[in-house]
Amino acid sequence: SSWWGHVEPALKDPILGVTEAFLADPSPNKVNVGVGAYRDDNGKPVVLQCVREAERRIVGKQNMEYLPMGGNVKMVEETLKLAYGENSSLLKEKRIAAVQALSGTGACRLFADFQKRFKPDSEIYIPVPTWSNHHNIWRDAQVPQKTFHYYLPKTKGLDFESLMVDIENAPNGSFFLLHACAHNPTGVDPTEEQWREISHQLKVKGHFPFFDMAYQGFASGDPERDAKAIRIFLEDGHSIGCAQSYAKNMGLYGQRIGCLSVVCQDEKEAVAVKSQLQQIARPMYSNPPVHGAQIVPTILGDPDLKNLWLQEVKGMADRIIGMRTALKENLEKLGSSLSWQHITDQIGMFCYSGLTPEQVDRLTNEFHIYMTRNGRISMAGVTTGNVGYLANAIHEVTK
Ligand code: PLP
Repeated sequence: SSWWGHVEPALKDPILGVTEAFLADPSPNKVNVGVGAYRDDNGKPVVLQCVREAERRIVGKQNMEYLPMGGNVKMVEETLKLAYGENSSLLKEKRIAAVQALSGTGACRLFADFQKRFKPDSEIYIPVPTWSNHHNIWRDAQVPQKTFHYYLPKTKGLDFESLMVDIENAPNGSFFLLHACAHNPTGVDPTEEQWREISHQLKVKGHFPFFDMAYQGFASGDPERDAKAIRIFLEDGHSIGCAQSYAKNMGLYGQRIGCLSVVCQDEKEAVAVKSQLQQIARPMYSNPPVHGAQIVPTILGDPDLKNLWLQEVKGMADRIIGMRTALKENLEKLGSSLSWQHITDQIGMFCYSGLTPEQVDRLTNEFHIYMTRNGRISMAGVTTGNVGYLANAIHEVTK
């Protein structure tokens, strides 16, 4: 008998499965608003100019040696400045334990494993809904999961009251997973005032905030503004954890470049925590990738290239914001009797449309429009060329 005859095929990833179905569809009208990767107005993937220029500067000068286990030191330094602020006293006091991670996913996983190892009886509170992979990550790290209220279908906005109650009812000293900006999949972020209240309440309860920041710069177009929630928590004296990713905001998706950081009480604690994070990485992948890790500090360490990057991030965010307005206006022009205000109220890469799974099935089967069945539209897949077609199809299935 076979060694692996008992192995059943794994369930398809709900997000990656959409792309497969899209690719298999021969229709010339097909539209992919499933995948969470930026596209230009022609629907094409983008390599940022600042990245191309950084590569030109690097080429031929790199060796292929292993990075230290903690990764590219300069990359990590620049990355922390983005999240914590250029003049953060935490940086000066060397209170942040940080390592290069395999993009945002790897950073989350490293933290989940760290949490399991050093707070073995803890749980993680995860928003409903969330990026589906969060569940997989903490499950595989064997950290039990609880949920907290986040999205209110009725308003297609934040369920702030229930969220606050859940924070209060969680046992003191719980771990909370928060999306720093551009919440995936809902596009719903707390306001600044709400963040202040959330921060205060977490502090009162002695909870640990873990920020997943996969879209810094993608929400507003300005990475500083998108770090506001984190800065509020730091002002309040929280010891946070933070996962950062350059997949979206630098377009480095497949390079797998990110960073995990944990704020510590002092330098000594940070040294210990960092050494343990490295210890966790060692038997998994030993050390992180070289190339993308050199692109990042080449850009962020050069004022001109950094400015170019900031312009390009803003360009991506602005195109998405423009497509939100266009989609909403098209639906209104078609005479839709529903409110589509949430399309422009929501922020970041996604619009949580409120379409039902059955309506999504109709969009796919009748109109060749592909998205996850939770009704999440990746605004990055919407273009001047397809927004009218998309609006018309949505109007048809929501009449
Ligand atoms: N976290 C959230 C909320 C995301 O949406 C994503 C990507 O879709 C990630 C993390 C991780 O992405 P990556 O591992 O490519 O950085």
